[in-house]
Amino acid sequence: MTADDDVRADLAEHARFLASLSGIGVPRPPEGGAAASTDERASSAPAAGGDGDPEVLLRAIREELGDCQRCRLAGGRKSIVFGQGSPWAEIMFVGEAPGAEEDEQGLAFVGRAGQLLTDIIEKGLKMKRADVYITNILKSRPPKNRNPEIDEVLACQPFLEAQIRAIRPRVLVGLGKFSAHWLLKTATPITRLRGRLGEWEGITVMPTYHPAYLLRNPSAKKDLWEDMKVVLDLLGRPVPD
Ligand code: URA
Repeated sequence: MTADDDVRADLAEHARFLASLSGIGVPRPPEGGAAASTDERASSAPAAGGDGDPEVLLRAIREELGDCQRCRLAGGRKSIVFGQGSPWAEIMFVGEAPGAEEDEQGLAFVGRAGQLLTDIIEKGLKMKRADVYITNILKSRPPKNRNPEIDEVLACQPFLEAQIRAIRPRVLVGLGKFSAHWLLKTATPITRLRGRLGEWEGITVMPTYHPAYLLRNPSAKKDLWEDMKVVLDLLGRPVPD
């Protein structure tokens, strides 16, 4: 089987799964295309209440997730790690899955990799962590931090999709191969994918290295920084030399 065959098989599986999702109750994407909805969100964002309010939508998605038992990870987790940050974030970071510390605290990226992500956001992007949104492909910790399995990804998928559609960030940053592959529907290795902009439902995607990889390979931090400079530029923010 080639990588393309794998992607086609994955997409067919996604389509079958999505087709079976009648009545799950998560919000549908807004009408009118990406640019229009992003602009609408920017002008209506601070208003509280209403169906299009990202804060309200995120709360509804979290309620729908409930004490999720949709896959086998439910039995081994302590907490559901839904994600946290600003519902009006311009940047949304999508990681892989909660680790031990995240499972303990119920918060995304609060362990060692999370500390590095905080540095990337605060020292690199010069933004507050509370002003971005951070979540993962999986909302429950896989045993011994093993890689996500396809059925687990598919079980969490409608919730991640709904989170992204609720927030409609200007840029989605895919942290690591699982996130980059999910966002861009490709199996291209992350070493070739990183730094190459893509799209998810009209939202710009920047695939880059996972902070845990950078902890093991500090020399790759310079590549991540190049990717973050592109993100700053996309947002119209000052780009340091
Ligand atoms: N790694 C991830 O991908 N996500 C987390 O939340 C923590 C570590």
